[in-house]
Amino acid sequence: MKKVIYTCPYVSAEWIAAYGLKPCRIVPYSNGTNSGIIRTEGLCPYVRDFINNLNEKEECIAVFTTLCDQMRRGFDIVTSRLDTPAFLMNIPSTWQTIASQKLYLDELKRLGNFLVQSGGKTPSDETLAEGMLKYNKARKSILEMNDKLSALQYAQLLEQFGKNGPDEVGRMGFSPCCSSIPLAIVGSPLLKHDFEILEITELLGGRIVLNATENGERGLCSPFNKRKLKENLLMELADTYFNSIHDASRRPNSELYKWLKINLVEREVKGIIFHRNIWCDIWHAELQRLKDWIDLPVLDIESTGDNQSTNQNTINRIRAFLEMLS
Ligand code: SF4
Repeated sequence: MKKVIYTCPYVSAEWIAAYGLKPCRIVPYSNGTNSGIIRTEGLCPYVRDFINNLNEKEECIAVFTTLCDQMRRGFDIVTSRLDTPAFLMNIPSTWQTIASQKLYLDELKRLGNFLVQSGGKTPSDETLAEGMLKYNKARKSILEMNDKLSALQYAQLLEQFGKNGPDEVGRMGFSPCCSSIPLAIVGSPLLKHDFEILEITELLGGRIVLNATENGERGLCSPFNKRKLKENLLMELADTYFNSIHDASRRPNSELYKWLKINLVEREVKGIIFHRNIWCDIWHAELQRLKDWIDLPVLDIESTGDNQSTNQNTINRIRAFLEMLS
């Protein structure tokens, strides 16, 4: 089955699967094969590694979104320099108007047309509904696993779900973390090697109770409303994805802060690790705002994308942060 590879949380896996293609939301990893072209483009490491990972896959389709300028640039590079068929989905930054919601719905339909041109089949309502319920159930089980797993295991579970779909959820055996200082990690999406930040934090005595990075819990949409599913499937899919995933790129992005507040309070978080990828203007701009808004200590960690996230300096800073909190 042809894979449709993407990273953005606003791309619906159910929608792709309904066309008979395999949705594959990846966590990019560095494979040490940066081409000179990509190196000189000044891309953030997340987009750079995403493109490098596409380059390794055969017979895949790539979906980019307009969530940030770097992703748009990534799309231009792929369409002009690689053979991989690629689609750029427009995600409106504004979200409070009917026009924005309609644009998102139209973009889902446009994505559907692209999937048909790429070998997919237009789905029946039954196929789409079945897929939506399956993904719903899997997301629910994942959320219930948060306090039963270490932060690293939870991130791996989310990665497996994105990459392999709902059938993999529940097949993984895990053990919980027993560290004590509850923390949240907030910010840019983590690259695969940045998962080490989670592991090291918990080895040093922190307990990450909220992964609010893009490829953490924040990137999961809310459950679908079963009554609305019966009335208008596609509308419910679009509404849920567009309105329940909260990102710094939204204008205004006040919903992100509301979502954070609820979860930080509920989970009794004592400190925040703010993760941002180098060249990521969107999250860099949020750092000061978050510090001004929240009455919690914030540790800023910049990932350079060269496997240095867990260098001694970072480890020492996490250790000092935890000592201050204990
Ligand atoms: S890390 Fe920032 S700049 Fe890079 S793709 Fe994500 S949002 Fe865009």
